[in-house]
Amino acid sequence: MTLDEYILLTRTLSSNSPPLEAMYAKYYKIILSIFGNSPSLPKLKVIYSLQRSAEIIDLSGKEFLIYDQYLGQTFNMLNRILLNSTDTMDSEMYFFKLLSERFAVKGENKIAQLLAYMHHIMKGKYFSYKSDKDILQRAIFTYSQEVFIISHEIAHLLIENPQNYREFFSRISFSDDFNLDNPSHFIEIVNNMSNLFGLGPIDYKGLDLITSIFKNKLTKELVIECYCDTIATLVTILVLNVKQNMDINNVILGIVICLRHLRVIGVINDICSNLWEKSKITSNDIHLTMNYIPRTSNIRGLISSFKNNFKQTVNYADIVELADHYEIMIEDPLMLSVSDKLKTLQRSLVENQQDIVDDANFTLTDVIKTTGFL
Ligand SMILES: [Zn+2]
Repeated sequence: MTLDEYILLTRTLSSNSPPLEAMYAKYYKIILSIFGNSPSLPKLKVIYSLQRSAEIIDLSGKEFLIYDQYLGQTFNMLNRILLNSTDTMDSEMYFFKLLSERFAVKGENKIAQLLAYMHHIMKGKYFSYKSDKDILQRAIFTYSQEVFIISHEIAHLLIENPQNYREFFSRISFSDDFNLDNPSHFIEIVNNMSNLFGLGPIDYKGLDLITSIFKNKLTKELVIECYCDTIATLVTILVLNVKQNMDINNVILGIVICLRHLRVIGVINDICSNLWEKSKITSNDIHLTMNYIPRTSNIRGLISSFKNNFKQTVNYADIVELADHYEIMIEDPLMLSVSDKLKTLQRSLVENQQDIVDDANFTLTDVIKTTGFL
């Protein structure tokens, strides 16, 4: 199978090519150089699809990183709501779009159609997200989230196949006998990476922290996710703060918020997979999605282990404040209001089969047009 065949089979593509390909190529080059430019590192393929995912695949022995620009666009919109919106209806308007697209991809056309129209109508009424309070801050948030996601995927390759990346491991003074089951190996790698990146010594306690809090709930997969988040955080700081001089506080805030964005996208996907049958997603479910809490605790543990490593002081209070604001502006509208409205819509679809617009001619293209995904 060729790369293009694989993409066509697994994605719902826009007919437009991803407009920001050149920008991704620029950042990807910097990221590859940090990982030692090894020939085993994946080639980047930027696409634009409704699946919003980043994935590394191996096709006949060659690795490719497929990055979806629509994921970055989703982060950017969530950042706009978080940083600018004065009305939680902005979030509801956007969630109807995300839900509609997701249902359409699953082939549940009636609900997708209703949600697309609701989004379309609301879009003209709710737009406080458009008035930027600090456009540079929003840009740094989105950059850091995209660099974080891409670096996280590459980190998986590195730590799961250290023998293929000898050069990188030798640059951080670590032999390739790296063992995933030995946390002290990883802690040494983090400290050596920080030194190599010119960030100076750190006292990384993220893993100790989550091990003591989550004890036997920590699976090997979750520990690997935390490893990759840790490496991705260091790389993102190096690329954007050290090399591009972007404000360290905004880079760090962007990374912490990235996990919340991923969780929101995960909840949307969960709602579309389960709600129709079970009709009972509760606000507790949000905590179960993608191991959010241990991963965030690990990143916060990493960030607090930086002392005077940056020219500016890191303002830890901002992280807590922004997290509270995130809950009010984004998570509560999704978990309380939108999920309730969706249940009502779904009930009315079941009860009034005849009254709903005939969907015989309704296609994925209609949802794509109505929700603005081009
Ligand atoms: Zn991962």
